[in-house]
Amino acid sequence: MSRKYYCGDSSEPLLIRLRNRLFRKPVPLFPKTVVIETQSGCNAGCLFCQYARIRKELPHGRMNDALFEKIVRGCAGRPVERFILCFDNEPLLDKGLAGRLAMVREVCPGAARNISTNASLLDEKAVETLIASGLLTEIFLSVNGNTKETYEKAMGLSYEQTFANLDNFCRYLRGHPDVRKRLRVRVTAVKTEHVAPELPEMKRRWEGEGFEFHVIAMDTRGGQLGRDNWRHGGEGKLAPNVNCRRPFHTFVATWEGKAVLCCVDYRREVVIGDLVRQSVDEIWNGPVARKLRAEFLRGDLSNLPICRNCMIND
Ligand code: SF4
Repeated sequence: MSRKYYCGDSSEPLLIRLRNRLFRKPVPLFPKTVVIETQSGCNAGCLFCQYARIRKELPHGRMNDALFEKIVRGCAGRPVERFILCFDNEPLLDKGLAGRLAMVREVCPGAARNISTNASLLDEKAVETLIASGLLTEIFLSVNGNTKETYEKAMGLSYEQTFANLDNFCRYLRGHPDVRKRLRVRVTAVKTEHVAPELPEMKRRWEGEGFEFHVIAMDTRGGQLGRDNWRHGGEGKLAPNVNCRRPFHTFVATWEGKAVLCCVDYRREVVIGDLVRQSVDEIWNGPVARKLRAEFLRGDLSNLPICRNCMIND
């Protein structure tokens, strides 16, 4: 299980400890990536995502300012490489996103500030507020399809609206090389049977703009994705997600202040801490997180039901 990390258990046999030292990395003392859901809710209905199916079961609301500030200040001076201000939500639905990015910039200036958005709300005003201002240093665009038919089937959003935004965004960046230089742009697509035939053209299009283009293998999202969804994964064979590294470098905070195991745990099935009472440091290095990570590495998933059902398309 996750052959990249080790937990540093001194009771392990010498040979295991030696192997770890030589071939694996210790779990970092502080998360490299901090994911914060500033507000719940998504306006899309993607084939590869469980959100639309389970949205009624989930708690909804917006993280209060005091809790957001507490989390970010708890990361000050620590080696966080990236803040991602979204979880299972569409981040541009949060009208206060700019203020929150500004706080991250002030408190943790060395960390990248990232969102992953479906771009349906990335209009001229959002480009001005978030991109021109330098509040975002990275933007990941989830764009599944190159044609209207495929895009609307895969994401349930208006092709015309999103692609008008993307055209405007590209035009803006072409006209502002200074902004472009300091912004990382990545277009991501999940490999479903619908999108697969369009991937070569998408790669040409987005790399032609100078963006990264990244194809993600479809997974069952900790078993939370319905069969109706994951059957769109195409011909690949589903296999257990044994090499998952997420709980070893990324910390995930839900809007109401729960720390959950990973960024597919929308249902909050494995809660590792409570940010209202605890700090990021206390939770990351606390007994619950340490025990679960050690169990994961041993392949003992008895306390990790979500991982037991997490399959990825080979
Ligand atoms: S459910 Fe478990 S295996 Fe799947 S992504 Fe999350 S941590 Fe990794």
